Amino acid sequence: MPGLLEGKAGLVTGAASGIGRACAIRFAREGAAVLVADLQSADEGGERTVNEIVMAGGRAEFFPCDVSRAADAEALVARVVERFGSLDFAHNNAGVGVHQLLHETADEDFDRVVAVNLRGTFLGIKHQVRQMLKNDGPTRGAIVNTSSNAGLRAVALLSAYAATKHGILGLTKNAAVEYANQGIRVNAVCPGAIMTPLMSGQPPARQQEILAPQAMTRFGEPEEVAAAVVWLCSEEASFITGVALPVDAGSVAWVSAHRA
Ligand code: NAD
Repeated sequence: MPGLLEGKAGLVTGAASGIGRACAIRFAREGAAVLVADLQSADEGGERTVNEIVMAGGRAEFFPCDVSRAADAEALVARVVERFGSLDFAHNNAGVGVHQLLHETADEDFDRVVAVNLRGTFLGIKHQVRQMLKNDGPTRGAIVNTSSNAGLRAVALLSAYAATKHGILGLTKNAAVEYANQGIRVNAVCPGAIMTPLMSGQPPARQQEILAPQAMTRFGEPEEVAAAVVWLCSEEASFITGVALPVDAGSVAWVSAHRA
């Protein structure tokens, strides 16, 4: 049976690790060629993602980039087209966080989180849409942005992060509306507590605090987010645009129930 993205080509940012790596591998398993994008300093992880894809018979290449830099966002798109022939999907996933009370958050940390998470997603969508508009219609492409539970509600100690993740949903909705009739769909996923280096790097007590609002009392696996991301990029989701899909084990539902 052909994969969900057979013959398609695209990119995943933050693909040297965690959710991005799982997504790149799943895109490839569904038949797509994938540019595995991450910081130059993460090249070892990036090559690991590429090797895993190639060993399984897929097509992938590592591309070093910093998503907060406009020139990199543009070059990333150009490389997908040069290497694989077209840009059919993009997953803007690279992200960073800082765990501090708002009044103790350093201005530089706030700026860094905004630069990577929010500016990075803006630059990504901008250059991806410019390229996708060159594809033959009516179906020109699909973009998925990684927001978070923290894009839908407050998460204590994550003010800067939550601000950017809410902002990503704003960009997602606006882009969805602006390009809906030009054949480009734009959606977001809002993961709950997923066990990746971003999570395992936190002290155990902090991990439990983040897990606490979930209805399912376990951490999610990156592959469980990847299944949703790849589906949203596929034709199976052809009538879906502008959504913020929680992949969160009932976290948002549970918090709302508590409030009611
Ligand atoms: P991770 O730390 O394992 O992976 C993030 C990757 O992004 C890293 O490989 C890192 O090098 C890369 N990156 C950081 N800054 C970059 C930049 N400027 N340019 C390019 N790449 C950059 O973390 P993860 O948990 O896989 O997170 C992936 C996304 O999922 C992030 O946007 C994160 O906010 C989001 N998320 C994670 C969780 C969770 O519980 N793990 C929950 C909700 C949302």
